[in-house]
Amino acid sequence: MIAEKMKAFVKNSSAIRAMFEEGKRQAALYGAENVFDFSLGNPNVPAPEGVKNAILSILDEEDPLMVHGYMSNSGYEDVREAIADSLNQRYSTSYTDQNIVMTVGAAGGMNVVFKTLLNPGDEVIAFAPFFGEYRAYVGNYDGILKVVPPDTETFQPNLSAFEGLITEKTKAVIVNTPNNPTGVVYSEETLKALSESLERKEQEIGHPIYLISDEPYRELVYGDAKVSWIPSLYPNTIVGYSYSKSLSLPGERIGYLVLPDSLDGSEEIISAANVATRILGYVNAPSLFQRVVARCLDENVDVEYYDRNREALYEGLKKAGLSCIKPEGAFYLFVKSPIEDEKLFCEMAKKHHLLLVAGSSFACPGYVRLAYCVSHEMILRSLPHFEELMKEIAGTADSSER
Ligand code: PLP
Repeated sequence: MIAEKMKAFVKNSSAIRAMFEEGKRQAALYGAENVFDFSLGNPNVPAPEGVKNAILSILDEEDPLMVHGYMSNSGYEDVREAIADSLNQRYSTSYTDQNIVMTVGAAGGMNVVFKTLLNPGDEVIAFAPFFGEYRAYVGNYDGILKVVPPDTETFQPNLSAFEGLITEKTKAVIVNTPNNPTGVVYSEETLKALSESLERKEQEIGHPIYLISDEPYRELVYGDAKVSWIPSLYPNTIVGYSYSKSLSLPGERIGYLVLPDSLDGSEEIISAANVATRILGYVNAPSLFQRVVARCLDENVDVEYYDRNREALYEGLKKAGLSCIKPEGAFYLFVKSPIEDEKLFCEMAKKHHLLLVAGSSFACPGYVRLAYCVSHEMILRSLPHFEELMKEIAGTADSSER
């Protein structure tokens, strides 16, 4: 009954649903405290108190017709202006409300961008490993996603493999830093080299290549890691932002796009994005939460909590004999599977009540992703189970050598 194109999407999403079901099944059998679910990127640090205060005062102070009404498709002018001003202060830019489109999270924003830009058959390039939903976002508009193989030494974009994938059909490139699933923050040096390469290729193929910077984790960084403002490096950059992680509001579906004047065809793109948000059926981003985020531009979640988790899990896994690059942002660890088949490793982990996601979901087999947006206590309780799992793997290897 369903569309052919949907069949593949349903098949992919059933893997995630199966993991969710497995968590519930194990919790019922062994007790929730004995199941270690590292599979979901759902923030466990609550939204800052400022969010609740903003909601209450908006409901108290503002005209309900205004709070809950339709507005311009791209969002309230005053909210967009406040966001533009805040970006201008942080990044020495000169955006206005015209450069901002409020979106239904980062996912909604990317769908607006691809609806706006893609003709059927246009190619979009992503660097592995990447957030698996990009396949659907590009496929929704009959674009073709081309994958740059990973640089597993650094997990920075693999630029030497990149240029060879650009063709006449290349319309856009996606970057995501801090990255899901690796937690790696792309260096300014790499991003400059990427920009130079894109500029050279634009000349060669004779049309713009848009860089889509998907930034839901921009605020989640540790130590002195610095997240570059990519539009300052490459003029044809569109930024997609989200408050899902930075304010722990994933269910509220709120974010924005930055469409700078420096984009080739900026006026046309901005007005098309305004139409795209409506005809995709979002109409506009959630009204109350537009007003909330405008009052919370300087609020942040407790990044220290994630940092403590990062240290404990990284050190604990290392002690158990697993290896991974130490993340500088987001809330994920991307761990090298100790056996070649990482899906089998996930199955073995399940028996120790450890729920992990296979790297093939991120176009990077041989690795597994752990989301550490979980309670600190759960991480501490899980570590002996990783040690047991690794003992089992060492035992299996020993017996197969005999
Ligand atoms: N992009 C990346 C890299 C993500 O990890 C996620 C969610 O986990 C999204 C986009 C979608 O975020 P949102 O909830 O803002 O739609």
